[in-house]
Amino acid sequence: MKALFLEDVGRLTLRDVERPVPGPAELLVRVEACGICGTDRHLFRGEFPARPPVTLGHEFSGVIEAVGNAVTGFQPSMRVTGDPNIACGHCAQCQKGRVNLCLNLQAIGIHRNGGFADYVVIPQNQTHALPETLDPLAGAFCEPLACCLHGVDLAKIAVGASVVVIGGGVIGLLTVQLAKLAGASRIVLVTRSAAKRDLAIRLGATDGLDPAGGDVEVRLSSPEGLLPGGADVVFECAGLAETVEQAPRLTARGGTCVLLGVLPAGERVTFEPFDLLFREVAVITSFLNPHTHRRAAALIASGAIRVAPLVSRTISLAQAVEAISQPAGGGEIRALVVPGG
Ligand code: NAP
Repeated sequence: MKALFLEDVGRLTLRDVERPVPGPAELLVRVEACGICGTDRHLFRGEFPARPPVTLGHEFSGVIEAVGNAVTGFQPSMRVTGDPNIACGHCAQCQKGRVNLCLNLQAIGIHRNGGFADYVVIPQNQTHALPETLDPLAGAFCEPLACCLHGVDLAKIAVGASVVVIGGGVIGLLTVQLAKLAGASRIVLVTRSAAKRDLAIRLGATDGLDPAGGDVEVRLSSPEGLLPGGADVVFECAGLAETVEQAPRLTARGGTCVLLGVLPAGERVTFEPFDLLFREVAVITSFLNPHTHRRAAALIASGAIRVAPLVSRTISLAQAVEAISQPAGGGEIRALVVPGG
């Protein structure tokens, strides 16, 4: 089979390798689609540690080809999605149920071979079923959706609440949809691209705001702004220092600001604790997808979350070498690798 290996920092190769054999509690899955996430580009550039040589790709889904002899509940030809984040189950954090904070966390596509390949091996207890009738590309969005779902769970959006989402990439556009499902009455997406703002409105946002069009704070939370006094919940989904600093300032008194975006290690931002304290703004972080992958799969399977409009292009494994080694193209939301396609 073909598999795209990160050989070392800055070096990706498409190799012909033996098809892996699943262990007793594992499944061999023929990959139908695997998303290229910003993390893959960070891994390529050495900004995030991987364990090369390793096949990248952690946003994958596909069809079961074979199952190990201890696997129950899954058979060949079933469509499935894999939760790539494997917790050890025995460290102090796992014992508390906080599996995303596992001290021995391993990820498929980072520490073990992932989905930029014709086939991937997934442990049974990381696997969730998807409907046979589902668009084969849709399952690749389960992992990012599961991460957004954790953030939305943490935000505890009250029905009728106002929400601001900063950043109109996959994470922002999925969060917009989850906020709608959670019952938000106003959802403002702040992002530069007009196409992404229009898409957000089709997906459930009530307003779009272009951050390049003037002071966001004034246009959003001033008395004449879209949400005077700020939003009950703000999600930072751009991953930039300026937007991380901006997010709590857009949050209303007593509101919650959830940081989903990832800044480079070592980068610092400035908050004003006096302001946060006197307005009792909770700034919280949301990391990965603890116990949310199954619900993400259910939301995609049911069509409650729309992912087809988020697919910017599909590419082959060979084309993925260039796509991962370059920054995402302007306006691109998600490129999906379709092995064998
Ligand atoms: P992305 O495609 O880069 O999306 C970020 C978006 O921010 C861009 O599409 C850009 O769109 C917008 N943006 C840029 N400058 C802006 C500004 N000044 N104000 C508002 N928006 C601005 O990335 P993604 O895949 O959606 O991921 C978003 C972040 O979440 C990344 O940092 C990623 O690493 C992180 N992430 C976190 C988790 C977690 O578990 N916490 C999981 C997955 C990803 P425009 O061009 O329209 O401005």
